[in-house]
Amino acid sequence: MDLTQEILKLKKEKKAIILAHNYERPEVQDIADYTGDSIELSRKAMAEKDAEIIVFSAVDFMAESAAILNPQKKVLLPCAGARCPMAQMLTVDEIKRVKALYPTAPVVVYVNTLASAKAYSDICCTSANAVQVVQSLDADTVLFGPDRNLGEYVAEKTGKKIVPIPEWGFCPTHLLFQPEDIAVLKLKHPDATVMVHPECSSDTRKVADFIGSTSKMCQYAKESSFKKFVVCTEEGILYRLQKENPAKEFIIAYDGAVCPNMKITTLERIYASLKENKHLVKIPESVAQKARVSLERMFEVKS
Ligand code: SF4
Repeated sequence: MDLTQEILKLKKEKKAIILAHNYERPEVQDIADYTGDSIELSRKAMAEKDAEIIVFSAVDFMAESAAILNPQKKVLLPCAGARCPMAQMLTVDEIKRVKALYPTAPVVVYVNTLASAKAYSDICCTSANAVQVVQSLDADTVLFGPDRNLGEYVAEKTGKKIVPIPEWGFCPTHLLFQPEDIAVLKLKHPDATVMVHPECSSDTRKVADFIGSTSKMCQYAKESSFKKFVVCTEEGILYRLQKENPAKEFIIAYDGAVCPNMKITTLERIYASLKENKHLVKIPESVAQKARVSLERMFEVKS
């Protein structure tokens, strides 16, 4: 059986679209209708008026956001085990605990959260628009979670007081990038420019020439006159960067920077998902309604 052909056939029969995050396996990115970061994919999911099914090749919170924003469509997560560990780090109880200490401070949650946390927030953000979202709020103190590093970056850029919720939230993959490894690569490739994701630690961000989300990195790589880039984010992005810029060179700053949760989706799982309508993402409407408000507020912020 030619898996690719079978997926394409099923996709057409079922009026489905396949979305894949930039960190997914190359073959999954290749079969997708759209590849992007969480904000690009959420926008695509909303724009696809004719699609009845969205197969979201990524992790749990992204598929949840698509389901929240597209209640009339079926959203499928090919592998139920594709769960982002960072998204599990922010609980509603933690938000309530910190909110009690800062009752007037707005709660901003990174989209890398479960629907329940989004429902308890004032507004969501992604790594592409976190600075603009916090800047848009009429408040000097903001509760922000779950990624402490992204929160610190936002504080640096906005000058506002960011209270991290929880205090210790992090992405295990982005913490693998260390300034010492980048220094070695810079010695080997003095003509390279260093792109760093804001989920990396502040020590790593300090040695960056460019800091941005994966979509911003793709844009920077395209527009920059540099020919060589040291990249500090999950290694899956290299596939898209190289495809879009065949004449440029991309070097991952740490060889083992792999998010296993992003690699768990395979073509076999996408096929099974389309064939058997699994795994359908279901969010209780009471939670979805509130979470939708936070996501929609984010889309209203210009970035
Ligand atoms: S790369 Fe980090 S934030 Fe993204 S899904 Fe993996 S663990 Fe979560």
